[in-house]
Amino acid sequence: MLTSREHKSEDTTFRIGSTVVGRDFTIIAGPCAVEDEMTFLDTARLVKSEGAHILRGHVYKPRTSPYDFQGLKDDGFQFIMAAKENLNMPIVMEVTAIEYVPIVAEYADLVQVGARNMQHFELLKAVGRIRRPVLLKRHPAATLYEFLMAAEYILQEGNENVILCERGIRSFSDFSRYTLDLTIVPALKERTHLPVFVDPSHASGRSAYVPPLAKAARACGADGLILEVHPSPENARCDKDQALTPEIFKKLMHELTS
Ligand code: PEP
Ligand code: MN
Repeated sequence: MLTSREHKSEDTTFRIGSTVVGRDFTIIAGPCAVEDEMTFLDTARLVKSEGAHILRGHVYKPRTSPYDFQGLKDDGFQFIMAAKENLNMPIVMEVTAIEYVPIVAEYADLVQVGARNMQHFELLKAVGRIRRPVLLKRHPAATLYEFLMAAEYILQEGNENVILCERGIRSFSDFSRYTLDLTIVPALKERTHLPVFVDPSHASGRSAYVPPLAKAARACGADGLILEVHPSPENARCDKDQALTPEIFKKLMHELTS
């Protein structure tokens, strides 16, 4: 298997902006979705000043309900350009359909395949053919084997720069959105050379739980985190309960870097 340690024993590393993924502890942060220029640029400035390496800049949003905010779609690209020009920060953006792969690969420095699309095999093959690194999120019901085989589809097409991201699995928890499966971090590190990230925001769904889970993920050997941050979470157009306030994000970044 191309993803296995037997195939390649040394850790996969690749540069995105100022960070070397797989070597540094990489922080991705930003809003759940791009909402408007001011909010996005405010968030970008904030996360950059606190040391985040990559900015969340999602314009296509997969949402559980079709009545919820679906992202700005094409109207969001102008704000991505504004953030890039003003802050010179790499962007991660989700691709939700095969037809969006070219445009997302043009604007994003890191292309995300969301949890629900983890086994969208044609999409995996399509992102396997681009020259951008891919952040592949674990489906909430995927086994370790299924997760690795999803990554295998991307590597098979020639794209070797894949980040695996644990984002919570479905359990009987009635106190958090999903259950963060931290055990998969060392289990993956044992079996694969690919970098492993953790998303404590979507896993817990509650901002109060994000800092302890973020620190635990690091202690478990994760190579990086993806965090949702919003200047005023109460006004966020999606996932407001899990967005870190600027103050909590700042405190967490100090704790992670000290
Ligand atoms: C996201 O990171 O924006 C997201 C929708 O996460 P997930 O696919 O893990 O639910
Ligand atoms: Mn979100």
